[in-house]
Amino acid sequence: MNETPQITITLKKGREKPVKKKHPWIFSGAIEKRDGDPEQGELVRIVDAQQNYLATAYYNRISQIRCRILTWDMDEVIDEAFWNGRIQTAIQHRQQLNLPPHTNAFRLINGESDFLPGLIVDKYGDYLVMQCLTAGIDARKERIAQILATLCQPKGIVERSDAYARKREGLPKTTGMLYGEAPPNALTIQENGVLFNVDLLNGQKTGFYLDQRENRTAVTQPTFVQDKTVLNVFAYTGGFGLFAIQNGAKTVINIDSSIEALEQAEKNVALNSWERPDDEYLAGDAFEILRYYRNQNAQFDMIILDPPKFAKSQKDIDGACRGYKDLNWLAFRLLKPGGLLATFSCSGLVSRDLFQKVLFGAAVDAQRDVQIIQQFNHAPDHPTAITVPESAYLKGFLLRAL
Ligand code: SAH
Repeated sequence: MNETPQITITLKKGREKPVKKKHPWIFSGAIEKRDGDPEQGELVRIVDAQQNYLATAYYNRISQIRCRILTWDMDEVIDEAFWNGRIQTAIQHRQQLNLPPHTNAFRLINGESDFLPGLIVDKYGDYLVMQCLTAGIDARKERIAQILATLCQPKGIVERSDAYARKREGLPKTTGMLYGEAPPNALTIQENGVLFNVDLLNGQKTGFYLDQRENRTAVTQPTFVQDKTVLNVFAYTGGFGLFAIQNGAKTVINIDSSIEALEQAEKNVALNSWERPDDEYLAGDAFEILRYYRNQNAQFDMIILDPPKFAKSQKDIDGACRGYKDLNWLAFRLLKPGGLLATFSCSGLVSRDLFQKVLFGAAVDAQRDVQIIQQFNHAPDHPTAITVPESAYLKGFLLRAL
């Protein structure tokens, strides 16, 4: 896997600054010239306007992000040992994390933040799921899978390269097996002692929203949910709702637009062999269902809002904020006095500050006095490189509406 970059990319004067600050992306507008025509994913040398070495990166001629940097060290060779070392380090860091007990599903490699741009690897019990988000990783995926197989000894490695981000890289959606045997359609995993069946080949994302692990537990503490009525909006396969049931909620109503996800949510309740709780499953558009409840003057003790990404690009930010405002306004209107709202945004382009402002606006319009009780991030197995703050996408608030 030894590759020596043959082509040199020269940056425009002044555009070397972010590179020197260790930001791993080089946008098309920063490039002055190149002395050849690199293949998709080919290694290139990056130099400043004076031809001083800056970094070694892989190239994409379609994406606005033309180069993603693998190393800033001129002497570091991008060979088998390089990939092996980076992957091994990421895995070792997970062992240090002290994840909750009885948890066998977590993120092993988090792309740029683990200094492996474009590569996502999640572990689900004996299986790994790999997402290749860039041409550079896509071109090396078999070799990376082999390294993962040697280091982790999984039963199988599933490829879930079907994320939206692939389109911008000029890559088709690809799903299948990269190594070993296919997982069962319903693979049972444990999160903090709660069982979930996940479908690694067809489920959303890589099968499960691992980034909410710690938040699911924090939000559903017994003192918050015991004997309460909980509305779990954007429920997917039950996530927050299952923890609420485990911690003594009286009623849990799960809402999602995906019927398959809700069917799985109901099966997940049975999988845990709890005494049958008072649980409901409503398939449909969350906005419409919340409006319906509002027209009925329904009231709930706790509402969880965990919507999908509303802003995919800069131009979506305003619309996304209107969506968040609408949703949270409805939730405030539906909360009993003293009720709790756990509300999230996974749009990387909507900052925590902006999201908080939107919540403020929704609270004012709903005429509720609102306190922030707690704030949330993505789980610690999804680290954020300090040089890439924009990769901190998930933000959440636990609010009390008086
Ligand atoms: N809270 C979940 C993850 C939610 S992901 C967990 O803990 O696992 C977002 C979910 O929103 C997805 O399951 C998706 O199917 C659902 N969704 C997307 N658009 C929706 C809409 N308009 N109304 C209701 N659900 C929607």
